[in-house]
Amino acid sequence: MKLERLTERIFIYPYEEERDRPNLSYIKGDRWSLAVDAGHSESHTREFYEALCEAGLPLPALTVLTHWHWDHTFGMHAVHGLCLANEKTNRHLLDFRDRLEKEGPEFFLAMHESIRREYAGGKPVIVTPADMVFRGEVLLDAGNCPIRVFEAEAPHTDDSTLIEVPGEQVLILGDSTGGTFPDWTMDMALAAKLAETVRKINPKLCIDGHWTPLTPEVIIEDLLAGEG
Ligand SMILES: [Zn+2]
Repeated sequence: MKLERLTERIFIYPYEEERDRPNLSYIKGDRWSLAVDAGHSESHTREFYEALCEAGLPLPALTVLTHWHWDHTFGMHAVHGLCLANEKTNRHLLDFRDRLEKEGPEFFLAMHESIRREYAGGKPVIVTPADMVFRGEVLLDAGNCPIRVFEAEAPHTDDSTLIEVPGEQVLILGDSTGGTFPDWTMDMALAAKLAETVRKINPKLCIDGHWTPLTPEVIIEDLLAGEG
């Protein structure tokens, strides 16, 4: 899979349906770079880094997690640099790690076919917590490239972090616009809150977890219709 350039500073390592791998976003500052989401497993993270090397881009100094779900986070033990997550995301990761230690990986592999494909051949399931934890909002500057990382209420999980890159007019949403796993039911009050958050930021483009980039108009329309 090749890296795709979305704007001057933002690149995407594209999603894959078969193994339920999400988009991994990459923001290039003048001084350092930031990745959004770690990957479904170590091999996903490594493939992302190979694509960065091929494009002549430095590996990320920091990886921010959009939410705790395995397909976005279980590559964390293989990331270059540090990981940042909100407090709830980190709590979910620690709980899941405890359960894996107690019960072994069978319950996790039983959750979905895409997980069994990602971990085919008995690959180990390794969960690590974040290096840094925040609450509310964090403002970063990767070098002439401000980045706003903030918690937002959303229908997909109770631990959504969104990433806004104002200089590029891009908002990274992770899976926040979707319903809940595994039946995708949508809480309409939370969908309306997220739609309002997107409307206020008014980016040019939104990056979704498992789809091609969309305009905020489409995102808002889908949220208000209950179609994440
Ligand atoms: Zn998710």
